[in-house]
Amino acid sequence: MYSLSGKITNATGIGPSVSDKLALKNIHTIQDLLLWVPLRYEDRSEQKLIMDLVKDELVTIQAEVTAISNQYKGRRSMQRATVRDSSGPLKLIWFNAPFIKDALVKGQSYFFSGKLNNRGMMTQPKVEKISNDTTHTNRLVPIYSSVPEIKAGNLRRYLKEVTQHLDPISDLLATEFDLLPLNETFKHLHFPDDQELTIKARERLAIEELLGLMQHSAEIKQQWKDNASAHLVTVDKENSIPDLPFTLTSAQQRSTRELLVDIQSTTPMNRLLLGDVGSGKTVVAGIATLHTLNNNHHVAFIAPTQILAEQHLETLSKLFPQINIQLLTAKTKFSLAEKPTLYLGTHAVINKLQQIKPALVIYDEQHRFGVEQRSEISKLTFRPHILTMSATPIPRSLMLTIFSHLELSVIDEMPAGRKPIKTWLASEKKRAGSYDWIKKKLRESGGQVLVVCPFIEHSEHEAFANVKSATETFAEIKPQFPDQKVELLHGRLTSDQKDKITKRLFDQKIDILVTTPIVEVGIDLPAALIIIIESAERFGLASLHQLRGRVGRAGQQAYCLLFPSSKSPTISQRLDVFTKTNDGIKLAEFDLQNRGAGDLFGTNQHGFDQLQFSNWTNIELITKAKQIFDELKSSQITWKSVISRQSTTPTAN
Ligand code: ADP
Ligand code: MG
Repeated sequence: MYSLSGKITNATGIGPSVSDKLALKNIHTIQDLLLWVPLRYEDRSEQKLIMDLVKDELVTIQAEVTAISNQYKGRRSMQRATVRDSSGPLKLIWFNAPFIKDALVKGQSYFFSGKLNNRGMMTQPKVEKISNDTTHTNRLVPIYSSVPEIKAGNLRRYLKEVTQHLDPISDLLATEFDLLPLNETFKHLHFPDDQELTIKARERLAIEELLGLMQHSAEIKQQWKDNASAHLVTVDKENSIPDLPFTLTSAQQRSTRELLVDIQSTTPMNRLLLGDVGSGKTVVAGIATLHTLNNNHHVAFIAPTQILAEQHLETLSKLFPQINIQLLTAKTKFSLAEKPTLYLGTHAVINKLQQIKPALVIYDEQHRFGVEQRSEISKLTFRPHILTMSATPIPRSLMLTIFSHLELSVIDEMPAGRKPIKTWLASEKKRAGSYDWIKKKLRESGGQVLVVCPFIEHSEHEAFANVKSATETFAEIKPQFPDQKVELLHGRLTSDQKDKITKRLFDQKIDILVTTPIVEVGIDLPAALIIIIESAERFGLASLHQLRGRVGRAGQQAYCLLFPSSKSPTISQRLDVFTKTNDGIKLAEFDLQNRGAGDLFGTNQHGFDQLQFSNWTNIELITKAKQIFDELKSSQITWKSVISRQSTTPTAN
């Protein structure tokens, strides 16, 4: 039996070489493995007689092997078998699967799961011994995001082993609040008896996750109350807003005022600035920075990526030429400046906070609302004011439900002159024409094109056979645009390579950038004119909206083209809604109402969301979690989340 915190090597079948491969995906414990959530489930649960099979339908048959052969053609091989059940015979065929010959025994019966082809043969069927608890056939089969060098079937086997032999988890929530017990939750998450159960399992984990956040938030609030004073900043009322190249929107002005009131107090600020992409959060943070520096204090500004840190450096030094900025990266040597300075960078800045002693710390986007970082901050010997910025589309009241420790400022208005981005749903037939149109646009008005693909590399898995990868798309697009400079940027490049490409992008030395959603995290490219989103159906509408927000930042008429890799009418309908709506929250709500089992719980696969199981827009679920949270509190029950993986719920200090 396995305990959640046990090492994965405890599991039968997982030796050191497999565990090394899993470690690359941050899977170290049994719990980590259990939280390797299926991307979707393939329905191989329907059993049919051979006589009743129809073309292209995925089913499972139970049949006896009557003949088996293996044939080599050069380096390729082909395996054929004949099987039969009570209704008649069937031919099966595999390619390059020589092990099949040894796996099948003449005269024995097996489950075969697959589809009939044009010629009435079942191609590449999955094979499994007959039992009433199968793993790969005759059931809803989990499909996982792949782990390099681990076969999909083996991954499934490991999860089966672990879900079947999991120690009973002590589970207060299940008994007190009539929720699905965790042992069952993990079973149904991976090997569900029906689709309904997968939803229940995800809901259970989502509740766990949300409660963890709420609890942590309450702890922080308590700490904040108990704690000593922050630096006091004084702001000259007459000059609270400096000269800027543009007029602030009234939402920006309001948020600025709220912020400035907070930092003029010795109670440390803990404020979230919420605003859609492009709403202009940075300048508001910049103004607070300016006043803090004017009061002779340092400021720290933490961006989620190097690219963004450099971007902020450029924007802020343009908007506020009077301030002193030091870029801090893992590579730069840190030295404390004499003049009040804005220290800007990624995680490297956090490690230097105790030395910098900033009066104000700003977190930009994707930082889980600073929840983890705030634990780091609570270890400091001083109390800074904290500002967190986010574009997460979540209604205000819900945000406050989860994050009781935060004050909230909302920028609910776009800078004047922004034109809504013209968005089209395109088809493959229109691709060549679209490229011609793009060439014409670039000739006429200049500008840059972003091409975003869901994945870096093509997935071997049939579930993703049509999904466009960045490397493939780059190879396709480059020869189509001989007069343009086309480059590829994704997360697997070295940071040097990424830095170089980013620099060239900012300097407008790249016309067309093919990339993965790493551009999503808030990059500001004023010249970006057109964004193409490949396999657009792989993204939630709220995520598409974030991506679309990358273009048209300088007020030019910008365009967004969606190329779906599926022609399903539901997909077209969903994407069609996107072409007609420009409101992030509305789109998030639409995502929620039209959820399928697969995309019910966020877009974590693409790194958009900080939540793994819940979704910011899942109002019902957040409300339910809040009720449980309140009941736990009023009955003074101590509860600790079992889901303590870094990436899901923060561990307590
Ligand atoms: P986000 O809220 O997504 O972080 P940014 O702060 O990056 O948005 O702002 C997007 C762009 O809009 C920047 O180029 C910024 O200089 C510009 N901008 C911000 N506020 C205004 C405004 N009031 N009028 C015009 N442009 C603005
Ligand atoms: Mg931003």
